[in-house]
Amino acid sequence: MAVIGIMSALHEELSAVLADMPDEQRVVVAGRDFWISHWQGHAVVAALSRIGKVAAATTATVMLERFGVDALVFTGVAGGLGPGVRVGDVVVASGLMQHDMDASPLFPRHEVPLYGRALFQSDAILSMQLTEAAQQVLQAAGQHLGPDTLAQFRLISPQVHQGLIVSGDRFVSTTAESQTLRQALPGALAVEMEGAAVAQVCLDYGVPFAAVRTISDRADDAAHTDFNRFIREVASRYSRAILLQWLTQRPVD
Ligand code: SAH
Repeated sequence: MAVIGIMSALHEELSAVLADMPDEQRVVVAGRDFWISHWQGHAVVAALSRIGKVAAATTATVMLERFGVDALVFTGVAGGLGPGVRVGDVVVASGLMQHDMDASPLFPRHEVPLYGRALFQSDAILSMQLTEAAQQVLQAAGQHLGPDTLAQFRLISPQVHQGLIVSGDRFVSTTAESQTLRQALPGALAVEMEGAAVAQVCLDYGVPFAAVRTISDRADDAAHTDFNRFIREVASRYSRAILLQWLTQRPVD
């Protein structure tokens, strides 16, 4: 049976997913928690990487080497960069780049040395399935979050976007920095701190990868407000609903 890996950086991001897994068994490897479980009839391993590219790469490697996952999905929060990418929207990565990779002049800026590429594409089929699942969930956002949460976070007709997500070892929390990022990488829809590292590890192992991120902030001067509450009450519930929707429609193989 195919094993599906689900990864988040923070416990809050995965809390609703873990609460839903009936028979999970926790294993600690490399100081990280991995939950082995079945969800909607699928064999699943869920893990928390902690924050940043190195932590994410280590966790992804354990997922692939120790737990033999056949596909890996990262889910969590990100800062919105693209125009019209608002708090409460969901971005599914079509590809990922490290915005802080710069070995110039030896290699072009953003290119990962000796890979001959800056862009790590996510798996097209997985990403399409997750985009559809996210659209179905967001169309009924009120059902998943409740009207009070919608009103509190001023979530009005949240949208799903598909495009470039950029990762780096910085929490982008000033308007100046997000403008600099937009100028350097005009196509970027969202910024976070893990995805491109996981995409690179998955490319190394030839395992399909996808990333689904709920926008928690606009990566600007207001980026820190209500961060943890938003993750708990909105992002973690979206993650659970989107993954459930996806797994329900995916044949068990
Ligand atoms: N406030 C948190 C820190 C979160 S760091 C704490 O106290 O623990 C940000 C996490 O959310 C990272 O895992 C990153 O992937 C994602 N993220 C959300 N918004 C981001 C932003 N504006 N810039 C970079 N990463 C962001």
